[in-house]
Order: sequence, then C-alpha cells, then structure tokens
Amino acid sequence: MSKEPLIIANWKCNPASKKEAEHLFGVLKKELRRIKKTEVVICPPFIFSSLFPARCSLKLGGQNCFWENRGAFTGEVSPLMLKNLGCEFVIIGHSERKKYFQESDLIINKKLKAVLKNRLQPILCVGEEARDAFTAEGKPLNEMSLVVGEQVEKGLSGISSSRLGEIVIAYEPVWAIGTGMPCLPNDAMKAALLIRKTLTNLYSRNIAEKVRIIYGGSVNSQNASDYTKGAAMNGLLIGGASLNASEFVKIVKDVEEIL
Ligand code: PEP
Repeated sequence: MSKEPLIIANWKCNPASKKEAEHLFGVLKKELRRIKKTEVVICPPFIFSSLFPARCSLKLGGQNCFWENRGAFTGEVSPLMLKNLGCEFVIIGHSERKKYFQESDLIINKKLKAVLKNRLQPILCVGEEARDAFTAEGKPLNEMSLVVGEQVEKGLSGISSSRLGEIVIAYEPVWAIGTGMPCLPNDAMKAALLIRKTLTNLYSRNIAEKVRIIYGGSVNSQNASDYTKGAAMNGLLIGGASLNASEFVKIVKDVEEIL
C-alpha cells in the first residue's frame, strides 16, 4: 500500500442541493487535475456519491457505513454498496458519529472489519475530548495517551498485521473539530508519534511504519502545511474548509508543493 500523502475532504451533511454538489465536484476536478504526488479523497454525503466526476485525479470516499453488506437494516448504507459505487476509502468512528449516534469502540471495530473485507481503506478516527491534553512544555498528558492508545487498540482489535498497510489513522482531537482552535502542529506530531508507538507495541515497528497517520481539526489554508512539513504526519482530514473550493484547492496545492 502506498505511503503517499493523503488529503481527505469530509463534506459532512453538506451541501444542501445536488446543484451545489455538482458545482463543487466540477471545480475540484478542474483545479486539482495536475496534482500528482498527493492522494486527494472526497467524502460527500452518500446521496451525492453518484455525481462524483469520472476520469479525474480525485478519489471517492464514504463518511460512514454499516457493518453488514445487505439485509433488513433500514436507513443504512453498506460497504459493498460503496465499493460498487467506486468508493476507495471510508471514514470510520468520526467523533460526530460517536456524539450523535453513540458509536462505541465495538461498533467502530465491526465497521472497520467490514470495510477491510470489502477491500476499501478505512480511515479510523481517534482523539481525546479535552483540550488540555498536553502540558505547557508540550508533553502529552497521561489521559491523552491512554485515550488515544485505547481507541487505536480497540479499533484495530482482531486485525491481522497483513492488513495494517491499508489502514489510515486520523488523529482528530475532538476539541479542535469545527471550533477554529486547531491543535498546535508540534502537539499533533507528538500524538502521531504516540499512535505509531502504540502500533509498534501491538504489531511491530515495520508494520507500524506502513500506516498513514493524518491530522484533522480546524485545518485551513493558513495552517495546513505546518502539519505536513515533518515526516510524522502523512496528511490531513479537512471538514469545514473542504466546502470552500478555493480554500481546499489552496490547501492541496500548498501540501503538494512542500513534498
Ligand atoms: C472533521 O470533520 O473531521 C474536521 C476535522 O472538521 P473541521 O476541519 O471543520 O475541524
């Protein structure tokens, strides 16, 4: 599995119309056609997935999915449906799914397994709730290490080392999502190192190196490249700023430029 930088756009429950979604897809397809080194994945609401433009440099992802492929599960969308629609990635365990739909570690693990079974790449979201996860000297507090470490361990429970290279882990401190208060790049880097250490303990150093770790939480065109400058972070997960085409295009181009 490739280790190229990854930028994920999470449109969440936006935009409100087909016309707006088509417009956004169209601008991104055109403006990002020359992007070569960065993998750019757009995760629209399911209902707009079939509008995803053909023959473009972008990839399609889902924001969530169910753990079964078919059956009597009213309102759900299955990983097989996403696969058949051309999706390559699925976000799993986003903090908004935990907050509004009570998704537990067990559910997240079931979904992650279903996603892998369907040969899609899961983007496992992890992150602590509280803002003061680091000391003034930038040392991760025990609570943050425990929370993030436990989420990684439970999310990956039962996953064999041969599949680890297909998994992306998004470090998304809950307090930074949609708040305009991003995590300091240095702190995000420390969290990424901590996640890699957890993976090393669970599997091995070699296997841990195969996993792409990305940051998400109030990223914009002003701060994006601060996170991807170092080797610790392999990309970004972008919510709010991904709905503004010029802002998102700038983020992708800035990240591509420093590679
Ligand atoms: C997200 O949706 O995962 C996210 C990081 O949102 P935002 O960029 O708006 O903070």
